[in-house]
Amino acid sequence: MSKKLINKVEKSFISEFNTNPLMIFSPGRINLIGEHTDYNNGFVFPAAIDKGIVLAIEKSDNNYSKVISIDMHEELILNLKNLKKIKENTWKNYIIGVIAEILKKGKEFTNFNCVFAGNIPVGSGLSSSAALENSLALGCNELFNLGLSKRELIHISQKAEHNYVGVNCGIMDQYASMFGKQGHAIFLDCKTLNSELVPVHLTDYEVILVNSNVKHALAESGYNDRYAVCQKIIKLLNKPSLRAVSIEELNTLKAKISESDYKKGLYVLQENERVVACKNALKDNDIKSVGEILFQSHIGQSKMYDISCVELDFLVETAKENDSVIGSRMMGGGFGGCTINLVLKKDLQDFKTKVSTRYKEKFNKDCSIYKVKLGDGTRVIK
Ligand code: ADP
Ligand code: MG
Repeated sequence: MSKKLINKVEKSFISEFNTNPLMIFSPGRINLIGEHTDYNNGFVFPAAIDKGIVLAIEKSDNNYSKVISIDMHEELILNLKNLKKIKENTWKNYIIGVIAEILKKGKEFTNFNCVFAGNIPVGSGLSSSAALENSLALGCNELFNLGLSKRELIHISQKAEHNYVGVNCGIMDQYASMFGKQGHAIFLDCKTLNSELVPVHLTDYEVILVNSNVKHALAESGYNDRYAVCQKIIKLLNKPSLRAVSIEELNTLKAKISESDYKKGLYVLQENERVVACKNALKDNDIKSVGEILFQSHIGQSKMYDISCVELDFLVETAKENDSVIGSRMMGGGFGGCTINLVLKKDLQDFKTKVSTRYKEKFNKDCSIYKVKLGDGTRVIK
């Protein structure tokens, strides 16, 4: 968590509103494995990171609420009695959504002022969106003593994204951001929301993210299209979710759906199996197997679920050519964003140089490379 970021947000709040705010930190997340399984009631294996959103909030006597985004240099004036989604794509819908969803629960509160900023690369699959939603949800809960549990808060965040942003996200991002624990990953069953904190000891290896710094226009529609394919399959099989579908049952649809839809269904079933295998390998300190499962997962995402892109495929292929990398795959919703890599600590510099040079040669564009630290979940910091 960055002290500089906290100071910036706090100072900016005080200079704008002349009062001391309640301060919240909410992290982004990585996902070791389990992509697009969450909205299929499957398994995921994410972890909160030490980067996120810092949000300052305090009650106001005005007859409106004011929210300032430092990073976007914009402000939002809210009338709590008349909250409507804004047509354009904007951060404001995350704010409007969270407030509207809290109000739908019959919780009442007064106007407030809020300032926030973040240090997660936005739209890179590190879930800056869930960090933003959770920071505001927890901020309101604490400031107005709403008495909502953290579980209720993450559902408020998720519904905000469904109903006000238009992304049919699962619960993984909000869960990981809220319940993360330093040095641990969360094995989460998205059907029951039962979870297990697993210590991440990677011996000689380090988790390294490579950001392709691209986000293809397909990201949002592609996500919702995949969601629709999964819904179609479960309707045909009369099942509540893909979690309840076996490979044999999916095979009965072979003649009824396109090959591409069949492969998408199969990917989800196989990815669920990989998440469980990955967790077991990590617990057994079998880091080589963890890495191999990540490579397999990427093949599924690229060749079956069709959510990769040339840049991500190139980054994974380039990583694979290095003996110091034992696992690599695209991470997040797809069509851009980051790859996650397990890289031998002593060869880190060499890996960075190779990958960034080759990426630049190929796409005439820079990639960004970060080491991630696994951190605690959404919390009050002041
Ligand atoms: P991801 O969650 O992978 O970062 P999303 O597209 O789901 O990508 O969410 C990114 C959106 O969240 C941004 O376009 C913006 O609307 C909002 N957002 C995230 N971080 C910030 C921030 N620091 N300031 C303002 N808006 C933010
Ligand atoms: Mg997001």
